[in-house]
Amino acid sequence: MVVSMREGCPKSQVAAVIAAMERRGLKVRIISPGPKVVLGVVEAVSKHLTDDLRFALSDMPGVEEVSDFHTDWKLVWRGPEQQTSVVRMGGRSIGGPELMVIAGPCAVECRENLLQTAQAVAASGAGAIRGGAFKPRTSPYSFRGLGEEGLKYLAEARELTGLPVVTEVMSFHEVELVARYADVLQIGARNMQNFALLEAAGEVDKPVLLKRGLGNTVKELLLCAEYILARGNQQVMFCERGIRTFETETRNTLDLAAVPILKQNSHLPVVVDPSHAAGKRELVPALALAAVAAGADGLMIEVHPEPAKALSDGRQTIDLPAFDDLMKRLALVAQAVGKTIPGVNP
Ligand code: PEP
Ligand code: MN
Repeated sequence: MVVSMREGCPKSQVAAVIAAMERRGLKVRIISPGPKVVLGVVEAVSKHLTDDLRFALSDMPGVEEVSDFHTDWKLVWRGPEQQTSVVRMGGRSIGGPELMVIAGPCAVECRENLLQTAQAVAASGAGAIRGGAFKPRTSPYSFRGLGEEGLKYLAEARELTGLPVVTEVMSFHEVELVARYADVLQIGARNMQNFALLEAAGEVDKPVLLKRGLGNTVKELLLCAEYILARGNQQVMFCERGIRTFETETRNTLDLAAVPILKQNSHLPVVVDPSHAAGKRELVPALALAAVAAGADGLMIEVHPEPAKALSDGRQTIDLPAFDDLMKRLALVAQAVGKTIPGVNP
């Protein structure tokens, strides 16, 4: 159930509505704190109670509308006129007027390589460094990451550049370990519906980047974010990274429509990963530019000093000069949609 208060109504009226809901034993959440306050009840409520409550609340001063959720994504849902939630990432943020560009190698391979990449992407205007220390690989014999050693190199890259660290956590057993080093926990496409992992991520005080599954709908993605928010962690961002279709020219098909659909349905920021969508580095710039034009709040791009030598996903990885060039072009499109990239002049 959602209760929308009139804009500018006094705090005492909001408090009275909350008290009336709590008197019925309901746990009230503030979906939007203002300027238009929106209150919600997340737990399942009997129809009898809902009808009774709607009747009682509708007449209270300050109440504009009482409605049942027509969706199951109650916490991720975008309330009327609600702004996109700004998620803090270390010293930076995503969801506001600044375009967040997360860049770095697919996997953390070695210390020198990572530090070199971090310094270069920072100089080009990236807002965060990425790199997997725990890698989900299709074959068990492929390079599967350096584990905690990789996390240490990522922390060193943050020290060196000031960039927050985005890195994947694959199992709920490792949430605590990864959260000790990372600024943002990435939940990968293959784990989007790993509900134990989602719930564990919902209990830590670190933002989560939730990637869309290879064969999952936008609605399923929204519901997976709901798992995290329902456990208390409100700092979640979506990541569209392409889905499997019949098309074979690209590794996946970038579903750009998912960007406005997510933005219309949810207040959470949306990131687009053109690298895993394309699978080919020559397609990455066009998809990245299109994603910003479509309204993405951020991008995640695989970058490596020598993509041909990368231990994973080299084919879709761009090199450092290509990244620098792309950032300049991104700044132009960002400007056209009312965003900026700090440190990059259009
Ligand atoms: C990644 O970001 O390196 C990754 C493994 O992505 P995905 O989960 O989207 O395949
Ligand atoms: Mn990758």
